[in-house]
Amino acid sequence: MAHTCIHWFRKGLRLHDNPALVAALRDCKEIYPVFVLDPCAPNNVNIGINRWKFLIGALKDLDCSLRKLNSRLFVVRGNPEEVFPKLFQKWKVTRLTYEYDTEPFSLRRDKEVVRLAEAHGVEIIYKVSHTLYNIDRIIEENNGKAPLTYNRLQTLVSSIGPPKRPIPAPTSDDMKDVKTPCSEKHEENYGISTLEKLYQDPESLTEELFPGGEQEAMRRLDQHMERKEWVCDFEKPQTSPNSLSPSTTVLSPYMTFGCLSVRTFWWSLTDVYQGKKHSQPPVSLHGQLLWREFFYTAGLGIPNFDKMEGNPVCTQVDWDSNSEYLAAWAEARTGFPFIDAIMTQLRQEGWIHHLARHAVACFLTRGDLWISWEEGQRVFEELLLDGDWSLNAGNWQWLSASTFFHQFFRVYSPIAFGKKTDKNGDYIKKYLPHLKKYPAQYIYEPWKAPRSVQEAAGCIVGKDYPRPIVEHEVISKKNIQRMKAAYAKRSPHSSDESPSKNEKGRKHKAPSVLDMLIKKKK
Ligand code: FAD
Repeated sequence: MAHTCIHWFRKGLRLHDNPALVAALRDCKEIYPVFVLDPCAPNNVNIGINRWKFLIGALKDLDCSLRKLNSRLFVVRGNPEEVFPKLFQKWKVTRLTYEYDTEPFSLRRDKEVVRLAEAHGVEIIYKVSHTLYNIDRIIEENNGKAPLTYNRLQTLVSSIGPPKRPIPAPTSDDMKDVKTPCSEKHEENYGISTLEKLYQDPESLTEELFPGGEQEAMRRLDQHMERKEWVCDFEKPQTSPNSLSPSTTVLSPYMTFGCLSVRTFWWSLTDVYQGKKHSQPPVSLHGQLLWREFFYTAGLGIPNFDKMEGNPVCTQVDWDSNSEYLAAWAEARTGFPFIDAIMTQLRQEGWIHHLARHAVACFLTRGDLWISWEEGQRVFEELLLDGDWSLNAGNWQWLSASTFFHQFFRVYSPIAFGKKTDKNGDYIKKYLPHLKKYPAQYIYEPWKAPRSVQEAAGCIVGKDYPRPIVEHEVISKKNIQRMKAAYAKRSPHSSDESPSKNEKGRKHKAPSVLDMLIKKKK
């Protein structure tokens, strides 16, 4: 039977290494590539303008690539549970394909869509391609538990073997017997939204440094892979949080939206490494991709992973509620230029370096302001182009010493840390131009500059730039004691043992939620 298919793009906004799309084209006479735009979905309500812009760019690029295959993208507004039954009937759909997504919100959504498809006699095919490995399989290999250390993850994935190789994008040849029925009103009915239609104000945008889309992702990947020596020598701790142009790849937004396949990235690195001496995980670029895998596994295997309460591996801490401190942090008004410069870069450009994330996350939580990591997670989710549910939750828990990392007595100084890689404060001057006339001696601590220096620099602390909201030396010591008290209350097993999916902890086949549903159907 020749199928009429919908391929549902969610993440995975690409044609290369898209096994679900390729599966859609098998025995297919008609294909409808669909993106469901649901601004009210829980994973979309808190998204800032830069991220919407990136998504629109990625969708335009996808549509452009589909046109080259004589097809088009259909952007449908609404929520998937309401949209799909209508589309199934309207287009007489017999098959729905998509990429497997392990986020709790997506699993719930997909479960409902599978149920609806079943009711309409629509076959479902989904494929794993957002991660290097099938995350369910990693958990299964670990006796139904998410590994809580990187080493353990490495052992598990080595036993599984290398990730699958990416598959090529479909060609016109693959599409020669497949049609996409498009009407003249396609643009009107299924065109890509504008920022205005999403109630966003384009006036508030600054220069777009990282345009969305698969073409741009591949261009950036190729550009990095040409720097063979840099790739082989890459050691994450040696990269700089405050260089004026990024010292790491900035491929993260492209992987979050799936414009770039992580397996394509992995195997491109393998090709560059071939026959050469190169750095190793956890600090190498392969190592970075394994961190991604680590947090995806934790996100799937640990209940309530984005919360403190109900999260069995997260240390319970009596964080303060302090809306003034939180706003000062989020709006770059802490009075610590290094912290404020990072938060300004984040708001304007949508990306900051990993160690810059360390600095501001530690400052907000256990270092200085004693505000819950969940608040920081929310702000990052809004402002980061690469905002990713599992990675964001996992890294915030790490930095706040709530889970995974326990050396809470090691606190980043908002003054000394940035100086290590930028003595002159050029990064601060770029993002906080009102401080640009400050001499290097005072740029990290402008409140220490004599009044005459402040006047000469044209920026008076307390008037043109805030005084520091806390006294770091004092507060950080007090917070270490509070953290010590929180640790003293932990049960001896928390954080050492991850919760088991199966009670007895025996090795078992852990089918994905969707596997279970589809098996039931058969
Ligand atoms: P590179 O150093 O070039 O690394 C290549 C890729 O490896 C990245 O694109 C990313 O996919 C992966 N990677 C690198 N570091 C990590 C890490 N620590 N954890 C997981 N994957 C990693 N990353 C996100 O993609 N989305 C988030 O929402 C996110 N939130 C974070 C929140 C905090 C508090 C912290 C400390 C880190 C967070 N990270 C997040 C992880 C990391 O900072 C970014 O992935 C990285 O800085 C992206 O830049 P890059 O692409 O140049 O990284």
